[in-house]
Amino acid sequence: MGQARGKLREYARKRRFEVTPEPGTAPAGRKEGLPLFVVHKHDARRLHYDLRLELDGALASWAIPKGPSYDPSQKRLAVQTEDHPLAYASFEGRIPEGEYGAGDSILWDRGTFDTVPPGEGSQQRKKGHLHLELQGEKLHGRWHLLRTRLAGGKQQWLFFKAKDGSEDPGYDVLAERPESVQSGRVRTRGPVSRRAMATIHPEPGQLLEKVGPPMRATPSRAEEVEEGRYLLEVKYDGYRGLAAICAGRVAFRSRSALDLSERFPDIAQALSHLEVAEAVLDGEVVALDERGASKFQLLQTSKGEERFAAFDLLWLDGEDLRGRPLEERRDLLESVLANATPPIQLGERVDLPLAGALSAAKRRGTEGIVAKRRGSKYRGGRSRDWLKLKVQATQEVAVVGYLPIRTGGAAIGSLLLAVREGRAFHYAGKVGTGFTDRVRELLKELLDRDRVERPEVQGAPRQRGAVWVRPKLVAQVAFSEWTRDGKLRQPSLQGLREDKRPEDCVREEPAEAR
Ligand code: MN
Repeated sequence: MGQARGKLREYARKRRFEVTPEPGTAPAGRKEGLPLFVVHKHDARRLHYDLRLELDGALASWAIPKGPSYDPSQKRLAVQTEDHPLAYASFEGRIPEGEYGAGDSILWDRGTFDTVPPGEGSQQRKKGHLHLELQGEKLHGRWHLLRTRLAGGKQQWLFFKAKDGSEDPGYDVLAERPESVQSGRVRTRGPVSRRAMATIHPEPGQLLEKVGPPMRATPSRAEEVEEGRYLLEVKYDGYRGLAAICAGRVAFRSRSALDLSERFPDIAQALSHLEVAEAVLDGEVVALDERGASKFQLLQTSKGEERFAAFDLLWLDGEDLRGRPLEERRDLLESVLANATPPIQLGERVDLPLAGALSAAKRRGTEGIVAKRRGSKYRGGRSRDWLKLKVQATQEVAVVGYLPIRTGGAAIGSLLLAVREGRAFHYAGKVGTGFTDRVRELLKELLDRDRVERPEVQGAPRQRGAVWVRPKLVAQVAFSEWTRDGKLRQPSLQGLREDKRPEDCVREEPAEAR
């Protein structure tokens, strides 16, 4: 298709393919059947709709500032632009800042078309009057595309609905069907202007205080998740973190206000390079194993691949998004992270029914699933709009004491554990495996500072040699199951959690009956 390649010269000249995610000009495979048409909703410097028709081996393109209308009296200006390659018919994404057409572009409509009479696309285009029969998901029936001015490179045309019985002056297709036909995305984001970057922004730390504490999921069972009313995401096993970015400056903290940028400098630096004027991201710092599953133990050893998996966007360019529905926040988050690379990544969605999602989590070795209620707002603190379903039995526990090592050294043998029930701590058993010698020594040193005379837990056993401490440290353990009397069976230490408080350690059940 030498002819088509030649026509795409201007398309190629305007773009840097090493930077933009848009497709190159290599010829795409073409299925049999009627020619394609698509409409992109393009949130560039000025929002517009790009009508593209497959003609002569490429996508002939028109930018329509006001978009199509089902009202035949609304004749919409359509400015002809350069031909695009056929592969552009499936493009959706964000064209990076500073590039030609910078901003989000979503696939607003797609389908096939023919001319009236059929098969005359090339001739009709030359004559300056395309009479189209569209079969899209939103645009259908007959439409006219009529050239009004031949001046120079930018030809002006008018695009309007034909009176063929499918016209409908009262139907605002742009307002009623704003979504992408490919991803369902609704909210789009325009380019970030130099001016927006240069204006005065709050301190990122202040912005974090403004959005307040993160929203937390409630431990839940599979039966409580009504099919279809929730969006499912991978549950990450790491440190919860909020990141505020203000024109290149970053504040990155855990729930307990631990400074994560000190602990994870590579992630903080990658955050500072995101192309946003002001944003607050919510997510989890994780360390991935070779299967891509996040493992809390790996965060302790720096052996895994460290990432920040962002799953929510609370603030964007001066706008507080917490009152906006979940789906809208997600759309904008995808826009902000559209061209992000590791160690920053988008929190993974799971597009399966819950039972399938839980078995996939088990197969992959991830901790479980978080189900988020569709349409829900972001509210700080524990909420029933977010439900967490674990497939692996792990538990956060308060450390309430220890047994010294039997050999008599200055180290602990096992930790005595408790969970919070109501206003009190309840004894939950002891853990003696999963420690290195170094950790055994360190823990003794730490715990000896907080010794108390009597156990501060209910149901504490009478144990010879037990040292009881005030609950300050939080540990995470893996275990096989809860015993009938509320103890952890076969627990193994996974690490200490500096980001959690002992009061947060409530008993969690696996999502499925075991
Ligand atoms: Mn455009």
